[in-house]
Amino acid sequence: MTENKGKKTNHRFKAELNRLLELIIHSLYKHPEIFLRELISNASDALNKARFLELTEKEIIDKDSEFCIKINVDKDKKLFTIEDSGIGMTRDELQNNIGTVANSGTLNYIKEMQEKGEPVNADMIGKFGVGFYSVFMVADEVIIETLSAKPGEQAYRWISDGKEKYTIEEIDKTSRGTKISFRLKEAQEEFAEEYRIKSIIKKYSNFVDFPIYINDKKENSVEALWRKADEELKPEELEEFYKFVSNDYEKPLDHLHLSMEGAVNFKALLFTPERAPLYLFRDINEKGLHLYNSRVFIEDNASEDLLPEYLRFIRGVVDTEDLPLNVSRETTQHSPVMGKIKSILTKKLLAQFEEWLKNDREKYEKFYKNFGQLLKTGLNSDFQNSDKIKKLLCFESTKTDDGKLVTFDEYIARMKEDQKEIYFLTGENKEIAARNPNLEYFRKNDIEVLYFTDPVDIFVMPNLYEYEGKNFVSIEKAEIDTTKSDDSSPEKLDKKEMKSILKTFKKILGEKVKDVVESKRLVDSPATLVVDKDGLDPQMERMMRAMNPEGTHFSQPKILEINPGHELIKNLAVLQADEKNSDTINDVINQLFEAALLIDGNLENPTDFISRMTSLMIKATK
Ligand code: ADP
Repeated sequence: MTENKGKKTNHRFKAELNRLLELIIHSLYKHPEIFLRELISNASDALNKARFLELTEKEIIDKDSEFCIKINVDKDKKLFTIEDSGIGMTRDELQNNIGTVANSGTLNYIKEMQEKGEPVNADMIGKFGVGFYSVFMVADEVIIETLSAKPGEQAYRWISDGKEKYTIEEIDKTSRGTKISFRLKEAQEEFAEEYRIKSIIKKYSNFVDFPIYINDKKENSVEALWRKADEELKPEELEEFYKFVSNDYEKPLDHLHLSMEGAVNFKALLFTPERAPLYLFRDINEKGLHLYNSRVFIEDNASEDLLPEYLRFIRGVVDTEDLPLNVSRETTQHSPVMGKIKSILTKKLLAQFEEWLKNDREKYEKFYKNFGQLLKTGLNSDFQNSDKIKKLLCFESTKTDDGKLVTFDEYIARMKEDQKEIYFLTGENKEIAARNPNLEYFRKNDIEVLYFTDPVDIFVMPNLYEYEGKNFVSIEKAEIDTTKSDDSSPEKLDKKEMKSILKTFKKILGEKVKDVVESKRLVDSPATLVVDKDGLDPQMERMMRAMNPEGTHFSQPKILEINPGHELIKNLAVLQADEKNSDTINDVINQLFEAALLIDGNLENPTDFISRMTSLMIKATK
């Protein structure tokens, strides 16, 4: 041993630590038992790291000692110790890891809630993982004794009251891992009771994958839940396990238990959360899929390698025997085994969603409201599964009641007999889209039109192409199939009259429009704008404008369709016979055009529109 042995060195914590401690004690005072969950969780992490080190690098001291957690309590003296045979800490690690607030997310959350004057939800704090410092809720002074599992390291003792200072000294300790000991505060002596400790472990740490001994008796069962047979899984157990792997505080929407044998072997227990995580919690202990290799914990965020982006909300565990263990994590990530598992998980999850859609609509719609947006983006990245994804999409339509959705299959099932295409209309929301005059023909002929009102719809639409042999057609585009005969419509202008009025429109509007044509889709409105069949979707144009209101805008010239049966158009046809009406005709046509722009959301400057309207009103009231 070195000459430093027994010599204590004094250190100071950073100022923020004291504040964290105050906050933890303040917000968790009703749940002091959280300290035990935190210490067990740290011990379990340390054990996982040691087991991984042993398997990958083979160099680990004290090789024969069992990977386990030992808790010892002395009821009379109120002494509490928890010891693990994990990775341990070097002097630097003790100073860097124990003396800092690693999870600043927790601190930020508490601060934010306090600034807003909102109560800090203790349950939520509990789920974040408050860390080692929660031990100071139950003890005034804590001793850590630790020896790193890496060969050739020195053991240390760390002592602190958690307030400002701590000491470190070298000690003799030959067993690998960390031992934490303290005397319980008077008010917290219940934690020296064995039964109390057992109940806390049951509540919070039942899924720790290492044996836990309490006063030398083995307590927890370590059978991994995902290795059990499906029918053995109890709902409460699943719920607890979900909370454990996800840090969520609510129960999951559903689970999926897989046991695959064949080309690739793995077991998985996956969960879909009930709700999308709040943005606020994104950086706070957000964990993805946990990956185990032959029961050895590898990492707690393997989502990137095991799930496509659009399913990244899935939580749970994947355990496989097919990965070589003695390789680095980086190699694991690039193993073809991971790719195969990913592809199976994706298919199974999509099949599960489809099953909900068929048999439990309420569950499905709940899921879709939370994760539908993300799911849709799969159309842009997962071409292999795009048919399966399309099957899962739902939209509002001209025929759905408020809040209800329709799938493509349902749409097709109730399509008109001679209808060949799936019609849609983009817009900011259902209300605004419903006012679009392009809908008139479809309403009149009782043809359903889907509303694509989700901002991501615009970006995924180009990858919809077709569904079950039916093309998707925007009703704001020219060349829709409106061949239905329509005998009930009012008398229309004849061919010759139409030709002449179209010419007048074109002359007056000039470059402002790409073309002026007779409309087959308008019923009540005199005119509407549509885009060329290859043109940019009008919603996309509106969005580009909204994103950059100051900039110059690319504005594609549109096609103006006019209604040959509308009274106003018919009047114009009569008026144009007389030269003296040319000013009025000019005003009316410009007014019609700008009114169509206005409805389209694309009238940039309403000044002319208003002054023209005023002069037309003056004429009308003369
Ligand atoms: P968190 O666990 O959220 O990172 P903690 O305050 O609980 O925060 O712990 C901080 C760090 O201290 C851990 O990340 C780990 O590096 C180290 N540590 C804590 N307990 C142990 C232990 N029993 N064995 C080894 N290292 C530990």
